[in-house]
Amino acid sequence: MRQLIAGNWKMNGLTEQAAAIAGPLRRGADGLGCDLLVCPPATMIGTVAHILVGSAVAVGGQDCHAKASGAHTGDISAVMLRDSGANWVILGHSERRSDHGESDATVRAKVLAARAAGLAPIVCVGETEAQRVAGAAEQVVGGQLAGSLSDGFADGAAPGVVAYEPVWAIGTGRTATEADVAAMHAHIRATLTALLGPAGARVRILYGGSVKPDNAAGLLAVPEVGGALVGGASLNAADFLAIARAAR
Ligand code: PEP
Repeated sequence: MRQLIAGNWKMNGLTEQAAAIAGPLRRGADGLGCDLLVCPPATMIGTVAHILVGSAVAVGGQDCHAKASGAHTGDISAVMLRDSGANWVILGHSERRSDHGESDATVRAKVLAARAAGLAPIVCVGETEAQRVAGAAEQVVGGQLAGSLSDGFADGAAPGVVAYEPVWAIGTGRTATEADVAAMHAHIRATLTALLGPAGARVRILYGGSVKPDNAAGLLAVPEVGGALVGGASLNAADFLAIARAAR
């Protein structure tokens, strides 16, 4: 399975910056041995999709509503993301879980909406520092997977993806050790197989949390690491491409 390197721009990027990142990505993506995805803010999806059309770089959203349309001021549905040029969507990022109180049930409803709209979901899971110190990391992540994933998650030509992102590693410059990543990814794989049957083997498991050009090769070589979800470093095309070149 090719690794997936996905960039989460979060709430960053006006037109000029989006073009400054997407243009070099378009030129640099040819010949890479991995899949490449960028997830700009919703306002930039159309612009970025236009720049990247016909290239090897896919485009995704960072969230969607669980319903396709209706009286939900300020929200964006999966169908709308698809209409804007996205084929992917990040769901259940820890910043959405903490800033917007998203529960596993909310994430699951969004997964179903994404699948119905033809988007491949990337479901984020991960423990807080206190949960890891308490020895509860695997239990927390297993519970998030059981609550967030839907039947059919791994079906179709674009199966869903899971991103393991320890909350304490996001945007902090700290990363999990390669041994801890290996142990957690093995646990996630076993949980996916228990939840989804043989289809669980088709799910790529990304690592996310302060992935940078200088640590990418080590993290991406860990068994069961199917790619990376990259925040800060995805805002610089050269850094993002350097991470992609470390992938297999
Ligand atoms: C993220 O927010 O998904 C993330 C991994 O951020 P960073 O790479 O900046 O830690």
